[in-house]
Amino acid sequence: MTTTHIPMFAQVNKYFDKAAAHLDLPPGLLAQIKACNSVFRVSFPLKRDDGTIEVINGWRAQHSVHRLPTKGGIRFAPQVDEDEVSALAALMTYKCALVDVPFGGAKGAVRIDPGNYSVTELERITRRFTYELFAKNLLGPGLDVPAPDYGTGPREMAWIMDTFSTLAPGSIDALGCVTGKPVTQGGVRGRAEATGRGVYFALREACCYGEDMAAMGLAPGLDGKRVVVQGLGNVGYHAAKYIQEGGGVIVALAEREGAIYSASGLDVDAVVAHRKDTGSILGFSGARDIATSGEALELECDVLVPAALENVITGGNVDRIRAMIIVEGANGPITADASELLLARGTLIIPDIYANAGGVTVSYFEWVKNLSHMRFGRMEKRFQEHTNEKIIRAAEGLTGQMLSDTARRAATEAAGEEELVNSGLEETMVAAYAELRVIQKDRGVDLRTAAFINAIGKVASAYTQRGIFP
Ligand code: NAD
Repeated sequence: MTTTHIPMFAQVNKYFDKAAAHLDLPPGLLAQIKACNSVFRVSFPLKRDDGTIEVINGWRAQHSVHRLPTKGGIRFAPQVDEDEVSALAALMTYKCALVDVPFGGAKGAVRIDPGNYSVTELERITRRFTYELFAKNLLGPGLDVPAPDYGTGPREMAWIMDTFSTLAPGSIDALGCVTGKPVTQGGVRGRAEATGRGVYFALREACCYGEDMAAMGLAPGLDGKRVVVQGLGNVGYHAAKYIQEGGGVIVALAEREGAIYSASGLDVDAVVAHRKDTGSILGFSGARDIATSGEALELECDVLVPAALENVITGGNVDRIRAMIIVEGANGPITADASELLLARGTLIIPDIYANAGGVTVSYFEWVKNLSHMRFGRMEKRFQEHTNEKIIRAAEGLTGQMLSDTARRAATEAAGEEELVNSGLEETMVAAYAELRVIQKDRGVDLRTAAFINAIGKVASAYTQRGIFP
């Protein structure tokens, strides 16, 4: 699959303008909300393992500082540029507003293909980039808090946290300078899975409205829906896994090297194990190989989840897309023009700023945990379990019936950190979909426009209530 280079910030702003037309807000305020507040560009040297020096380029965009800290991932990708980082930062502003996460929007990027560097080189790149952000006051638990994105993960987040802690000795809230850390380094249980799990909740919510499904000729519920997922990284893997557990049939999975298809469904974990063993998704027993990842997008299916890259559904292939529901796991996988053509055909697009908001939601929980310096559930878990036990004993005394050991354990067990995080994530995704659907129906707009109407309205009221400095 080749990705067409399409200026991404202009795409986001097309969505913004479409939604803004439904809002009665002053043009100046809309222009301020839309503008990217600042972009930091940096070039720094990397001493490679062979002793040569290479110049590395990076960016950090803070799209909106109407709330602080700003929040957004750091990606390591070979084609990234300032326009893309600004667009992704803007999406973060709207995403945070939509799911009531109290942050402004930001995004960072380092223009490298991580596959071309050793682990020690990646560590030096990450630490130096962190230093550059720190030196410009662009990193800190109350300023700007990065997270993983395309090409980065918990390992890089731990390096960022360690570098920040070294540069800011005694900073008691240092752990909160970045999210997506390993659980043993201040991360929160459930963060790694959160974006993909959120994608699943988004799809589940969309499928539960019988009349919306009937309009597309589909039965209500996720059960038995044929699903194609592109990208088996953090978002795609977890989305595929939870969709499969939730009753969806994963008929195809696509990665860089190609795709595989099985009408009866693929076992996601077995495919991942096969890819780990052989280095490729292709050749999976019982599945048909498809030469390119792009072709998988065009397969006959009910649900398509592009969860790898931006601009994969464009004017060039939109006519061949057959899914009735598209869940944007990745940021910006559909161009604005292709999006309009799909909507005209009656396709339900669950937009990125809602569909992949599970990641920043749980990042928010991680940041709160870091500032509180205590794991969720530590204080109340046992108290809750003892209370449950007392209630059960009282009920047994009244009825003369005793619970089995298994039923007793299930009835007394209280939530630990992971259960609380998952509960908070589910509540966030369910509540946000319900809000979006009300706007969608009331205004007669598509879900993306409803999402932008919701988000712009919230950012506008923040500006209106706080006032404008000076
Ligand atoms: P990742 O690096 O973990 O995974 C990306 C995967 O896509 C990799 O496995 C890569 O091999 C694969 N890929 C690359 N080119 C491909 C192609 N042509 N066809 C199929 N697969 C291809 O990245 P991620 O964190 O999963 O991010 C994916 C997308 O989701 C990005 O758009 C990112 O901005 C967005 N996102 C991520 C998070 C998060 O929490 N990680 C949150 C919100 C949004």
